[in-house]
Amino acid sequence: MTAKTWRRARQAVQILAAVLFVYLLLGTRQGLPTFLPHDLFFRLDPLVGVAAMLAGRRWIAALALGLATLALAVLAGRAWCGWLCPLGAALDWTRPRLSREGDPRGNWRSAKHGLLLVILFAALLGNLTLLVLDPLTILFRTMAAAVLPAVNALLTAAESALYAIGPLQRPLEWVDRVLRGAGLVGGEPAFQQGVVLALVFAGVLALNAVRPRFWCRYLCPLGALLGLVSKVSFLRHHADADACVACGKCARACPTGTVDPARGYAADPSECTLCLDCAAVCPTNAVAFRWHLVPAGWREYDPSRRQALLSLGVAVAGVGLLRAAPAARRDHPRLIRPPGARENGLLDKCIRCGECMKVCPTSGLQPSLDVAGLEGLWTPVLVPRLGYCDYSCHSCGQACPTGAIPPLSLDDKRRAVIGVAYIDENRCIPWADGADCIVCEEMCPVPDKAIQLDVQTVARPDGTVAEVRRPRVIRERCIGCGICEYKCPLNGEAAIRVYAP
Ligand code: SF4
Ligand code: SF4
Repeated sequence: MTAKTWRRARQAVQILAAVLFVYLLLGTRQGLPTFLPHDLFFRLDPLVGVAAMLAGRRWIAALALGLATLALAVLAGRAWCGWLCPLGAALDWTRPRLSREGDPRGNWRSAKHGLLLVILFAALLGNLTLLVLDPLTILFRTMAAAVLPAVNALLTAAESALYAIGPLQRPLEWVDRVLRGAGLVGGEPAFQQGVVLALVFAGVLALNAVRPRFWCRYLCPLGALLGLVSKVSFLRHHADADACVACGKCARACPTGTVDPARGYAADPSECTLCLDCAAVCPTNAVAFRWHLVPAGWREYDPSRRQALLSLGVAVAGVGLLRAAPAARRDHPRLIRPPGARENGLLDKCIRCGECMKVCPTSGLQPSLDVAGLEGLWTPVLVPRLGYCDYSCHSCGQACPTGAIPPLSLDDKRRAVIGVAYIDENRCIPWADGADCIVCEEMCPVPDKAIQLDVQTVARPDGTVAEVRRPRVIRERCIGCGICEYKCPLNGEAAIRVYAP
């Protein structure tokens, strides 16, 4: 096959990998089986696997597939980055035509190694906060918490606007069935951090304008890990000195800027993503990918002992500061974790992937910004006013790839206490206004009802006397599912609120 044909094959593989990523993303929902594990990409991510196992001090069998990605790096360098990574594909597809060549002044490429080392040292200390910068977690979270809800909202708005036109009703119903049936969650998922997550993702894409694949060259910690393994990769870029006419086309075409004219147009296997752009533009076919057995040399931007020590210091200081923060001393009263997660020590197991939030049918699980402190950034918390823990669902525990949320059976999950409800008598209608309202009692899914109605004779604010049913929480029965808070008919804050147990 010619270089151009190989390059087309690469583009086809990129498209297939991106389609598979989206298919598995859409398939991550309650009760919907996928033909491959829904968390396949996270299982293939060796950075997630190594960090989660270091932090949890345990072997996580599901994440062992990351070894296959490391084996691929030994065989063919950073082929993952050029052929399979869906974020890499998004960067290729959004690359401006006129982006600058060469590196900015300074040792920018070493930033990704620093980030990788800090993540690994922090994981050794039981902290996974910086996995928010893993490329797959960035992409999945953004898709689940920003893109899909936005698509869903736009679809609903378009349907509402067009449904009044009679002949369009049947086609609209068909479109709705097909699109929502394909995985756009029913209802209207809404995420508090959607805009923030979308901005982070947009920033990663926008950096493409500074340099092509800026993220992969300078920042990606997964790329750094694969790059270090690629030092010993067998399949590598090779520029034939006899055939080379020094036209420089390959150096200009290389999206990671690793083809170096000063080194005879050689490429560093740690930086080369095997995209084949260089081989495809070479007028004399001087560029080929050949088998090598000698490890590639260390470059000035590769990790040094000094950088390792600095990263260790940053990780120790960072984890120390996070652990000294008030959030670490006393949990926020609204830190309501998914069923079983609190007892399971979620913080040192959660890789911030967002699978649980995608699968939660009520959108009650939200990425935390402040209630879990900085250490718990973008870990899942239940926000009952936005969505409740459905009594007939145990999906988050089934979807979580690391076991941070334990895979409880439905029966066990129904008994798991995630919070306790309290009534605000100053706002509750029967308490404050002397009028009937039994919504919370009606909604409570616990068989024996954790909310009881006490009939009391009360004097109303207007001076009349009436018998009113006033709700009372039986704390030992309450599991904190939050449906009472979600359904409370008051505007704004509910009159019954769930707090951490
Ligand atoms: S068990 Fe509760 S919190 Fe978890 S996904 Fe289901 S409804 Fe959401
Ligand atoms: S708790 Fe949620 S965000 Fe954390 S690893 Fe599990 S599924 Fe991913």
